[in-house]
Amino acid sequence: MNKKIVILGAGISGLAAAYWLNKDGYDVTVLEKKAEVGGSMESVVEKGYMFDRGPNSGLETTPLIGQLIDGLNLRDQLVYANKEGNKRYILRDNNLYPLPMSPPAFIKTKLFSTGAKLRLFAEPFIGRSNDGYYQSIAEFVKRRLGKEFLDYAINPFVAGVYAGNPEELSVKSAFPKLYALEEKYGGLIIGSVKSMRERKKRAEKSKQSARMFSFIDGMQTLPKAIAASLGNNVITSAEVTGIKKTQNSYSVLYNNSGTEKEIECDVIYSTLPAYFAADLFKPFDDGLEKHLKEIYYPPVLVVYLVYNKTVIKQALDGFGFLIPAKEKKSFLGAIWSSVIFPNRAEGDTASFTLFIGGARNPEIGNIDKEILFKKVRGEFEQLMGISADPVHFFYRYWPKSIPQYNIGYIEHEKYIEEFEAKNPGIVLGGNYRGGISVGDCIKNSEIITNKIKELCVSAS
Ligand SMILES: Cc1cc2nc3c(=O)[nH]c(=O)nc-3n(C[C@H](O)[C@H](O)[C@H](O)COP(=O)(O)OP(=O)(O)OC[C@H]3O[C@@H](n4cnc5c(N)ncnc54)[C@H](O)[C@@H]3O)c2cc1C
Repeated sequence: MNKKIVILGAGISGLAAAYWLNKDGYDVTVLEKKAEVGGSMESVVEKGYMFDRGPNSGLETTPLIGQLIDGLNLRDQLVYANKEGNKRYILRDNNLYPLPMSPPAFIKTKLFSTGAKLRLFAEPFIGRSNDGYYQSIAEFVKRRLGKEFLDYAINPFVAGVYAGNPEELSVKSAFPKLYALEEKYGGLIIGSVKSMRERKKRAEKSKQSARMFSFIDGMQTLPKAIAASLGNNVITSAEVTGIKKTQNSYSVLYNNSGTEKEIECDVIYSTLPAYFAADLFKPFDDGLEKHLKEIYYPPVLVVYLVYNKTVIKQALDGFGFLIPAKEKKSFLGAIWSSVIFPNRAEGDTASFTLFIGGARNPEIGNIDKEILFKKVRGEFEQLMGISADPVHFFYRYWPKSIPQYNIGYIEHEKYIEEFEAKNPGIVLGGNYRGGISVGDCIKNSEIITNKIKELCVSAS
C-alpha cells in the first residue's frame, strides 16, 4: 500500500479503478487531459435541455454498479428506465415494428417472415464452429439463425451497441458471452437457459435482463461523483506527454495547464484510447504502436432533437428504434430520450437522440455536418410523422468514437498481454479491452484493481 499508482485518463474505466484502490488505502493519482472528468460520458445542459452526448444509459449488469452508487450516495439521483424502455422498434420497409420480447410476440410479429421464424427451430441442431476469433458476428448469426435474423435483429443491434459493422466484428472478441453459448453449451437456445441459471448463482444479470439506469442530470453524474470523492487525487487539465523508466519505477510526465510536471510511481494504469496509448508507450516496445493503432474507432455524429409533442404522429411508447443497414437510411437509429428518463425535456416537448455514421457509414467524417444533419432530420421526421421544425437541436461529433473488436483483434490482445508481462508495472486498459459498455468498464475495474494490487506486492 505504500506504492504509488498513477492512472492515465479520468473516464469511467480510470475513475472506477481509482475509486476501489483509494477505498482500500492505496496512494493513487488520476491524470486527465480535459478540464472535466468523464471521458465519453458527457452530459451537458443547453438552452435548458439536458443532453447526453456520449452514453445515454448503462445496464446494471454487475453488483459493482450498485456498490459505487451507494458508496457515493447517488441513490437519490439514480433513475431507471421506465417500462416503455422495454419496447424497442426496428425499422422494416419504412414501418416501425416492436422487437418481439416473448415467444407469443415472436410468433405474431410481422418483423420476421414465417420462413425466418421456422428457421430458428434448426438452431439447436447446428454444430459448433472452431474459429470464434476469426469469425464475424454476421457469419456466426447467419449460420446459427439465418440471414433474415442477421439483417433485422443482429445488424441493427450491432449498430446500437458498437456503431459497428457485423461483417467486421469478431464474434468471440466482441460478443464473448454469445459465442460462449455455442462453445460451452453447443447452441444459443440451450446455452441461454443454462447460463441464466449460472448467472443467478453469481448474482449477475444478463444484458437482456439487467435494468437500464442513468441519473437525473445524465450519465456524467457518475464520473463526476467518483472524482469528487477522490478530491485532489484527480488532476484535470493534465495531459500526459511521456513515460520514462527510472531505476526501480516509472516517471509520468504531464502538462498541467501549461506547466510541465512529473510524478514518480510504481504502477501506471493507462485508460487512454488505444491510439493515444500507442504514441505514449512507443519508446517501450517496437511493435506495440502498430497493434494499438490498428484498433479501429469509427466516427459517430450524435444529434439531439426537441419537438413539441403535438406535431409528432408516432406513439411515444418505447426506447426508440434501430435501423437495419438493408433499409438504406442515413442514420443508425434514435433513442426517444424523454420517454425513458425524466428531465430530458421541458413542458410539452419530447427529445430524441440520433446516432449517425459508425463503422457502417465511416464516410460521414468527410461530409459537411450541416448537410448530413438536414438529411437525417428529414428522414427522422418522415418516419416519426413529424410535421414541424424542431424547437431545438444540438450535435456532437466524435471523430473516433467506440473501439471495434474486429476480426484480428485477438492478435492485438495477445501482444498487449506480452507487453505487460515484459514491462511489469504498466497496465493497459480502458474500453478497448474487456468490453466497451459502461457496465463492462465498471466490471473490469475490479479485475484491473486486483491486477494492480498484485503488481504493488511484486514491486515491494
Ligand atoms: C457516442 C457514444 C455513445 C455511447 N453509448 C453508450 C451507451 O449508451 N451505453 C454504454 O454502456 N456505453 C456507451 N458508449 C461506450 C462507453 O461510453 C465508453 O466505452 C466508456 O465510457 C469508455 O470509458 P473509458 O474510461 O474506457 O474511456 P474514455 O471515456 O475514452 O476515457 C479516456 C480518458 O482519457 C483522457 N485522455 C486522453 N488522452 C490523454 C492524455 N494524453 N493525458 C491524460 N488524459 C488523456 C480522455 O480525455 C478521456 O477522459 C458510448 C460511447 C460513445 C462515444
